[in-house]
Amino acid sequence: MIFINLTSKIIIMPPKVNWPEAIKPLIKKYKGKKHPLDYENTYQLLVGVVLSAQDSDKHINQLSPKLFEAFPNMEALSHCTPETLFPLIGSVRNYANKTKWLIALAQKIQNDENIPLTLDELTALPGIGRKSANVIKREAGAKAEGVVVDLHVVRVAPRLGIATGSDPKKIEKQIMETLPPEEWDAGMAMSFLGREICRPTPKCEICLMKQVCNYYHTVFLNSSE
Ligand code: SF4
Repeated sequence: MIFINLTSKIIIMPPKVNWPEAIKPLIKKYKGKKHPLDYENTYQLLVGVVLSAQDSDKHINQLSPKLFEAFPNMEALSHCTPETLFPLIGSVRNYANKTKWLIALAQKIQNDENIPLTLDELTALPGIGRKSANVIKREAGAKAEGVVVDLHVVRVAPRLGIATGSDPKKIEKQIMETLPPEEWDAGMAMSFLGREICRPTPKCEICLMKQVCNYYHTVFLNSSE
């Protein structure tokens, strides 16, 4: 939509968007794409997700082979001590708390077969919030009970216009209210888009979402006029 304001400058306005339809190409693009954390099973995924909070997936992938060699499963982790874990994860951000959380959750779960896959049970574990639980459920193939909202989604969703604000919980709620449950993989799809295209400086020209994107119409096009 185009408006001409009092100074005769052309203002390009965002289109009204039917999000349940508009989000489909994005979900399709990233359908089945594996999370950037390296993992071979749900145990490794869960440990990687806890360690990667406020750190980078790349950094965790660098140290995880040695960690999983030393502690190959939940049972082994449940018997470890902070002193044996520190040398392996000492470079991770907030490693002291993460050490406590990993040992505590391993002692609670005991073995790999007991790893829960419901949102309530996962978020009851130390060190696992909604974002981590949603990631674990998605990667494990469990039915979505929420939407992954990581720091990329916090940037991408308000740009698109599917949500507002910067509070991950509120953004997740808005997306869940806007999209039907079968489209809740939109969170991880937006996360991938944020990692590849909708970077802090977005590459709007090559983005498949530009026709429905609020930022593209209100900022990008108007600034390139
Ligand atoms: S069009 Fe631009 S701002 Fe919008 S989602 Fe794509 S890259 Fe991000």
